[in-house]
Amino acid sequence: MKLIHIDKKEWNQGMERAQKEYLLFSPVKDKDKEQYLFGPLAHGEVPDMTHADTVLSPKSIIFPQTEKMLHASLDPSQPDHHIMKRVPEEYGPRAVIGIRPYDVKALTLMNLNFDTDDYRDPYWCDAYKATTFIALGVNSPSSVDFSTSMGSGPFDETGVDVLLVDNQDSYIAKIITDKGQAFMEAAGFNAEADPSARETLDNIKANAEKKITAKVGTDTLRGREILELYEAPFWDEIAFSCINCGTCTFVCPTCWCFDIQDETKGKACTRFRNWDSCMFPLFTLHGSGHNPRGEKTQRVRQRFMHKLKYFLDKYDQGTMCVGCGRCVESCPVNIDIREVCNIMNNYEPQK
Ligand code: SF4
Ligand code: SF4
Repeated sequence: MKLIHIDKKEWNQGMERAQKEYLLFSPVKDKDKEQYLFGPLAHGEVPDMTHADTVLSPKSIIFPQTEKMLHASLDPSQPDHHIMKRVPEEYGPRAVIGIRPYDVKALTLMNLNFDTDDYRDPYWCDAYKATTFIALGVNSPSSVDFSTSMGSGPFDETGVDVLLVDNQDSYIAKIITDKGQAFMEAAGFNAEADPSARETLDNIKANAEKKITAKVGTDTLRGREILELYEAPFWDEIAFSCINCGTCTFVCPTCWCFDIQDETKGKACTRFRNWDSCMFPLFTLHGSGHNPRGEKTQRVRQRFMHKLKYFLDKYDQGTMCVGCGRCVESCPVNIDIREVCNIMNNYEPQK
């Protein structure tokens, strides 16, 4: 893996060069200038690499909050009326600059759901394939970061094409994939890093990981019986204060629940896919009126069991949580997945 030296003074020019070939996404301040969200950059706009963590994860770049899937004409005079067709979408080369390494790992976990041997979701697959991930290592993890407990970390390379490491006046860029190499060529960054850069990178990484003090246990989860956790007595207490607002699932980089709706306007019909949440009672309401998760405790249990048990059992790829801490920070009633995970992991059923 090649290491490149990028002088920060040359960064903006490189991004302008890259924009000739790629649509760039990066954290940008929202319209109220209060928080950062991931969004596309206008031509000539350069990524802000000083950003704090974004409230919402960057998953919307691959999996938009609302996405047009299919459309059809309802006009009987048209030869193809009522035939649903995919809505055309541009999937030219795009790159996400400054994405957190654990957020890239999160997308690889979502990929397990959307790109399988049995079914390939074309919307997800086309967007994922077109995207190059230029991740920025997290030198100073936030107080809610527990990524190292969840099989990830502030310098995780899973799914990353180029890992940038902030080294004062420069970046050390670790090129991990061919996609990453192509992006760096488009940006015109090719100065080989000094031989000492490898050690510098390792030191920055080790220091960052040391700053993460939260320790969350996951070691017993895989071996447990599902029913042992499902029927455990602690769920009512965990769910007690939850107001089912769904915030935790919307901010999460690994939550993928969605709902599909058809809307008609005049003689046109469009089928949309919208984010949904397992925390909402409507999500599981059947047409018959029956709701298998009609109670709050059932929904809260579902969220944690999916992330920390079902996913683990189904894919054997660790938890469906990368420890970004967004849900910890955003939950209005302070329900903390770190505590829930420890409760599940340490649970000793009464004999
Ligand atoms: S953010 Fe908190 S209150 Fe809202 S649904 Fe999630 S756990 Fe419940
Ligand atoms: S910490 Fe919360 S928001 Fe982040 S990946 Fe885990 S469950 Fe999702």
